[in-house]
Amino acid sequence: MTPTLQVTNLVKRYGGLLATDHLSISLMPGELHAIIGPNGAGKSTLIGQLGGEVHPDSGRIEFAGQDITAMPPDQRALRGLARSYQITSLFTEFSVLENVALAMQAHRGHSFNFWTPMLKQPDLVEPALRAIDQAGLTHRAQSLVSELAHGERRQLEMAMVLVAEPKLLLLDEPMAGMSHQESGKVVELLRSLKGRYTVLLVEHDMDAVFSLADRISVLVYGSIIACGTPDEISANPEVRTAYLGDEEVAA
Ligand code: ADP
Repeated sequence: MTPTLQVTNLVKRYGGLLATDHLSISLMPGELHAIIGPNGAGKSTLIGQLGGEVHPDSGRIEFAGQDITAMPPDQRALRGLARSYQITSLFTEFSVLENVALAMQAHRGHSFNFWTPMLKQPDLVEPALRAIDQAGLTHRAQSLVSELAHGERRQLEMAMVLVAEPKLLLLDEPMAGMSHQESGKVVELLRSLKGRYTVLLVEHDMDAVFSLADRISVLVYGSIIACGTPDEISANPEVRTAYLGDEEVAA
């Protein structure tokens, strides 16, 4: 089976600092792979290189068997590599359904069809409703974005990513700034997507990571010091000393 993502010997330097230090990682189709590591470990730099905004100094990134190391972000997105955080501009006076339908339209790269109201276009509305359902927001489909709680906005952002049916989802701290109850919803959402999407998850919420991930990679000073199942990672002595401070880890 071809990995969905194969990163080989990736290097990114900032002056004398190795933010990404000969890093290799692979994700098989349907895998939920989490990256954990202390602040400054190089998680954002890695995500930036996978998304195409940050250019590596050397190494190779393959996506579904194709070398995308030098490919610009929009080309990566068109091929099905989606980042959650990019959806920052919600139209707050539009409904949830309209926002997701707009995301669908943007993904297709079609120009606006001024002559047919958006909500009368089944090729936009049907996939939008499916994505809204996957994101657990069906009861809010007709609500204005301005009426949504913070957690519901994050669910909407997920719907706007899912509508494009990405092959790989890069999720950069999807639970950041959420209440316990809200992050619980996102955990449930990610669990419901498991197996259907390939997901690379960067997240500080250890309970979420250890309960969701198929595999976890531990990043310290730009290198992956361990990669394995949640059980393997929580039992790894090197991880405990280097990162987890020898605390008990939820497994
Ligand atoms: P994390 O996301 O794990 O907190 P980052 O990827 O943000 O880590 O940062 C990794 C290291 O690279 C840090 O030491 C950070 O200061 C440095 N770094 C990140 N971006 C830049 C940049 N644009 N210029 C210089 N140094 C950077």
